[in-house]
Amino acid sequence: MKILVVEDEMQLADALSEILKRNMYSVDTVYDGIDGLDNALTGVYDGIILDIMLPGMNGIEILKNLRKEKINTPVLLLTARSEIEDKINGLDCGADDYLTKPFVTGELLARVRALTRRRGEIVDDNKMSFNGLELNKNKCSIIYGANDIKLSLKEYQIMELLIANPRQILPKERIIEKIWGYESDVEYNNIEVYISFLRKKISVISAPVQIKTARGIGYSLE
Ligand code: CA
Repeated sequence: MKILVVEDEMQLADALSEILKRNMYSVDTVYDGIDGLDNALTGVYDGIILDIMLPGMNGIEILKNLRKEKINTPVLLLTARSEIEDKINGLDCGADDYLTKPFVTGELLARVRALTRRRGEIVDDNKMSFNGLELNKNKCSIIYGANDIKLSLKEYQIMELLIANPRQILPKERIIEKIWGYESDVEYNNIEVYISFLRKKISVISAPVQIKTARGIGYSLE
């Protein structure tokens, strides 16, 4: 799950990013409206946490632009108590939810989970499954029957992406974009290494699931 945080109060932005990373999200953080819109327009995010009062361009304008460009990434607006008007305006402009500052971590995480809740084979917010293989967020592991094995953070994120898009070829570019970000210098063979670790782990727990290679393109979960 990839989240964009757009917030000009740096301390708050960095704290948000820390909390999300600790909860297995991959996070990009930007501190002004222009970068916020630029990043959001890529459409690569599973959710956006968007402050309203921002230098460059405010959150409502960003939201309007996104929806005009048919980018439907779910948006959680951050509002100050005094910004009731903005809140209503924001919901009218296509925000999915809002959170009033200051907030507690538990509430933030619950809102983000609700925001990014996927369609598809979901057991609950901490588990996803595919053909009997369970990906467990709390344990950071994959489980099949009585067998389970720990995953590294990157392995977890790749597995999550595969399970969220089962039986579809995921191009390597998209995996890089989603997990490492645009500006990363991750190479295709880095992904191959993670995929081979994942394949080994899937076979260790004897799950009837395969990560197939689409030669020259990417991978699919079958
Ligand atoms: Ca602000």
